Amino acid sequence: MESTLERTWAEIDLDKVVHNYRTLKARIGENCKFLGVVKADSYGSGSIPVSKVLQEEGADYLAVSSIDEAIELRKHDITLPILILGHTPKEEVKNLIKYQITQAVSCIEDAYDYSEEAGKANGTLTIHIKADTGMSRIGFLCNDEELDASVNQIVEAMALPGLLTEGIFTHLAVSDEPGEFCKDYTNHQIANFKEAIVKAEARSGKKFAIRHCANTGGVARYPETWLDFDMVRPGLLLYGYGEFAEELGLKPVMALKSKVYGIKHYPADTRISYGGIFTTKRPTRMGIIPYGYADGFFRCLSNRVEVYTESGLVNQRGKICMDMCMIDLTDVPEVGEGSTVEIFGNLQSINDIAALAGTIPYEIACAVSKRVPRIYYRNGEIVGKELMLRG
Ligand SMILES: *Cc1c(COP(=O)(O)O)cnc(C)c1O
Repeated sequence: MESTLERTWAEIDLDKVVHNYRTLKARIGENCKFLGVVKADSYGSGSIPVSKVLQEEGADYLAVSSIDEAIELRKHDITLPILILGHTPKEEVKNLIKYQITQAVSCIEDAYDYSEEAGKANGTLTIHIKADTGMSRIGFLCNDEELDASVNQIVEAMALPGLLTEGIFTHLAVSDEPGEFCKDYTNHQIANFKEAIVKAEARSGKKFAIRHCANTGGVARYPETWLDFDMVRPGLLLYGYGEFAEELGLKPVMALKSKVYGIKHYPADTRISYGGIFTTKRPTRMGIIPYGYADGFFRCLSNRVEVYTESGLVNQRGKICMDMCMIDLTDVPEVGEGSTVEIFGNLQSINDIAALAGTIPYEIACAVSKRVPRIYYRNGEIVGKELMLRG
């Protein structure tokens, strides 16, 4: 659906996706494949345009979390291999095969179910085995105690008819965290992953074509994850968020902007918004921006956050409402009705907003809601405006 309004909008700079991709690709080198994680609508940036750019740039693989996300990409001319990281109900195996989507397999029961369904569909399902080496989420449990038994199950899965095991992967739980403990933990995960691979290959007599474990933390801090494996799997870095992105010279893809749509003047001692948590201390010129928690502004940021105007940062005042919030423009008379403000992007980092909200940039990016139109830029020009509401 096309957007008509200039209310609050997200500018998605696809040139920055290109820049980030090329920078990361240069880092990992020619011998390692690149999977772009485009789940959750590319962390709020629009999975279709981002995937198209990655496809053009020669990325090797994409990953999403569900079959719905994968089929959406297929219906929009994405021909790259797509890996579903999460669980898919066995009833959907026929569609996985039909749309040539790769499925993660994280337990032996699923492997049997998928094999049976592939047989019924008279096709072959391409799979990547998921090993749990310490994330303690999904996957064949490959901790020190269970590794050997789990490898036997992995080998059992690999031998099932109707399944083609193309790859194996694991997910690193603390690769982006500082400190010796996290370093040891990550290295231990990598070591267990390697051991599981060596044993599964020896026992099955087959080789995994694509072995992968590097998320953002891996790509940023553990060269082994691209030097010793076949593919990396970053998400956050691709979008240019987080401290590692800054260190690596990557650029934030999304800038969230809004417009002052009204100005009010209040005397001192006026309580502002729900709950009256802010009281003016002086005659105040208050701007109203149509950006609230239903757009993805976190209410916990109320009265603590700043937004960037053409004249610099100003304070947000009072509780953030569902559809709007107030900003103090008393000291910036040149900022008026129709002025654009940036909530995060190039002038104010999403990382700072996340820190202030007590969360991670992932959550802030994913929270930008459906009613915020995405405006896509390529070579400095607008190439699309998309509103994710039902058209
Ligand atoms: C989300 C996800 C990634 C990407 O993580 P980032 O921290 O954004 O790089 C990689 N692998 C798996 C299994 C994931 O779920």
